[in-house]
Amino acid sequence: MTNPARPCPICSELASTKLPQYSRDGWSVEQCDACAHVYLKNPPGYGALVEDFAWEKTYVDEHQRRLKESPVVYRLDVATRIRHTAFRKSMEDKWRAWFGSGAVLDIGCANSGNDYNGFTPYGIEISKELAVEADRNMRAAGGFCIFGPGAEAIWKFDAAMFDGIVMSSYLEHEEEPLKVLQGAARALKPGGRIYVRVPNFGCLSRKVTGQKWCGFRWPDHVNYFTTADLGRIAGKAGLKVQLLNPVRLPFDDNINALLAHKD
Ligand SMILES: [Zn+2]
Repeated sequence: MTNPARPCPICSELASTKLPQYSRDGWSVEQCDACAHVYLKNPPGYGALVEDFAWEKTYVDEHQRRLKESPVVYRLDVATRIRHTAFRKSMEDKWRAWFGSGAVLDIGCANSGNDYNGFTPYGIEISKELAVEADRNMRAAGGFCIFGPGAEAIWKFDAAMFDGIVMSSYLEHEEEPLKVLQGAARALKPGGRIYVRVPNFGCLSRKVTGQKWCGFRWPDHVNYFTTADLGRIAGKAGLKVQLLNPVRLPFDDNINALLAHKD
């Protein structure tokens, strides 16, 4: 069941204007009349995400469609993602640089195949199968994984529990991103950091390629953040944003940032 009247996930305004050039197959991508944030007006809801639209299930269809529509651009995009996976070891080094050591929560952790050297891993995962596998992996390393939507599960952890929280390619899927960020601000230790990676709606590639931009996915992506959007929603949760890719940002399909408690 869709929610046809979803308010703006950043400012709660109900009034919005449809962007037909970014909408598809009945999924209405709209711009908030108050704050200009672009988001999916009629998301499928958490139940449907678990049952029908979980990433691992839609990936194959989406892959075929994109390959057919825009082969060159899409192949480049796939290559980028494969490199990302192959360089997982360097990701671990980044975790060390950002979080030091200690307890790290990965929201949208999938099956958590990562090697959590030096960290006690915790996770939240909305796909039941993947959550079970992640929980097994994480328990072996002293942590655990909770099955459920991030906006609910984040509140089940203790306050000031984590040295680091990871939201990699997650917030764009989350119907209630503000609630998640507020929960994360509460669950974060003083001095801790939150890593966020989301598609960069303000990037040049989106402006040039329009609907073919790799950041669009219907209906899986329900929020399309610019850096300004990310700054505003983080601010509402009591967090400040430090961009990790400020120089090449206009040319980057993703925003990479560290969030920390405001001073
Ligand atoms: Zn708004």
